[in-house]
Amino acid sequence: MRLLNRARGAESTAPDKAPSGPLAVVIGGGISGLVAARELAISGHRVQLHEASATFGGCVQLHEVAGLRLDAGAESFATRSTAVADLLGELGLGQDIITPQPGGAWLYLKRGTEHGAQPLPATGILGIPGDPWAEEVRSAVGRAGALRAAADLITPVSKKLVEGQMSLGALVRSRMGSAVLQNLVTPVVSGVHSADPDTLDVDAIAPGLRAAVLKHGSLARAVASMRAAAPAGSAVASVKGGMNKLVSALVADLLEAGVELFANSPVAGLEPQEEATGFLVRLAPAEPTAEAEPEHGRNAKADKADKAAKAAKQQLAPGPREVHADRVVLATGGGPAIDLLAGIDAAFEPHRPSSGAGIALVTLVIDKPELDDAPRGTGLLVAPSVENVGAKALTHATAKWQWLGDASGPGSHVLRLSYGRLNDVASALVNADDNSLRSAALKDASVLLGLDITSGDVLGFDVVRYSGALPFATTGHAKRVAEIRALADTHPGLDLVGAWLAGTGLAAVIADTRKRLRITAS
Ligand SMILES: Cc1cc2nc3c(=O)[nH]c(=O)nc-3n(C[C@H](O)[C@H](O)[C@H](O)COP(=O)(O)OP(=O)(O)OC[C@H]3O[C@@H](n4cnc5c(N)ncnc54)[C@H](O)[C@@H]3O)c2cc1C
Repeated sequence: MRLLNRARGAESTAPDKAPSGPLAVVIGGGISGLVAARELAISGHRVQLHEASATFGGCVQLHEVAGLRLDAGAESFATRSTAVADLLGELGLGQDIITPQPGGAWLYLKRGTEHGAQPLPATGILGIPGDPWAEEVRSAVGRAGALRAAADLITPVSKKLVEGQMSLGALVRSRMGSAVLQNLVTPVVSGVHSADPDTLDVDAIAPGLRAAVLKHGSLARAVASMRAAAPAGSAVASVKGGMNKLVSALVADLLEAGVELFANSPVAGLEPQEEATGFLVRLAPAEPTAEAEPEHGRNAKADKADKAAKAAKQQLAPGPREVHADRVVLATGGGPAIDLLAGIDAAFEPHRPSSGAGIALVTLVIDKPELDDAPRGTGLLVAPSVENVGAKALTHATAKWQWLGDASGPGSHVLRLSYGRLNDVASALVNADDNSLRSAALKDASVLLGLDITSGDVLGFDVVRYSGALPFATTGHAKRVAEIRALADTHPGLDLVGAWLAGTGLAAVIADTRKRLRITAS
């Protein structure tokens, strides 16, 4: 409870009395659920959290490969706001915030009939260049493409630009042309969001960009000014030891605050309570898994938070299969949320979101001293037009994060390849078996990094799969979210949080969850 006291600004560090307020049940133990549980505990609720799987964290997970403890999902956070850094600070992890090594990201493109790698222009947002005439932009889109992009600087901006809904693709194409969209924006957006820019709502994915274009009279100048206004330093950061430390710290904090955490505890149904306020939460029969505890990495020591996370992991679903809750926070993905909401109000069904992309994340730990010089910086984003690579992105994790490079030692390298591009042949790879993915990853890593990587180089390998985990904000997102939340507001005590509403990414999810719960939980 000490940390929650600190978050409240309380002077005393003595343990609080056991919470005795109304009972809140949080459904889903990803970051949004853990953060919601923390806000509810801070505001004096008794809190239970039920997570369907064996581990907390959702898309933020830990795995061990070749003796290294690595992020198995999200590995960084956007620094455009202080939302994540503030939370890390409250959890005592502020001094562990780190920025990537300076190598920068690269692109892998198809230009004409040739494939090739080049650095990603440094001054952009989502691949949109702040300087259309920069050398890397000319190299990526060709002279004609750069000339077309530079027309943005002299073409007047109509007020109509900020009216109605618009996709990111439509904005970029209209201001800078197709070459910038295809060779710069699409690789970044499909790599990060697994979505086509023509389907993504520009206001959801780049808040404030349209208004800035109108203000500055150009997309390039808008991007440059937003970059200049962003906090100094890198656009992303992480935590020494991995983003998964956020999960173990949250779990430890919640346990200390008396929150009851249940893993392997899927919620099967949700109903209004008859003749009373609140909700009846029905739990599915518990099927505890005999999951082996991972061994500690050769360079990592179990800390207090890790132990707490493991203790929580072992708490199984409680005896009663029903819980009477005064409040419910639904913190699952969009599909499961709409399934559960059917028990409360059939009017939610038309708001069912399209399911996000499936992703297979392949981790290779290899012995390859030639990579010590990080030939492709921190990694590459692959343009969808590329035909000789199936991955959508490769992260050279040991080149990106110094703590990991130190932990693996010279000559050993961690590569993360993600599969699951939308609308193309390569998306079939996401459903391939582990052996096929291993072969594809070795071939793709060889092409992308420009050297031969074979089975003999492999020290460790793992595949982690996420289904529908990257919901994307299609055009009209803000209006749809407002409608869903207005509908939820007609059911007092019900809150909906998570990436399907807040937008993909830890910064969006944490900021939105705290904002929602601070409005409604107080
Ligand atoms: C591979 C990958 C890499 C990523 N990398 C980054 C990154 O580097 N930086 C970044 O900012 N973002 C990244 N993201 C996105 C980011 O991780 C997510 O946007 C965010 O973690 C979503 O959190 P959430 O709580 O909304 O959902 P989730 O993490 O999906 O959590 C939802 C939880 O609800 C549980 N659940 C579902 N149904 C039920 C039920 N009926 N009962 C109980 N529990 C249920 C699920 O098991 C799950 O644990 C990445 C995502 C993926 C998949």
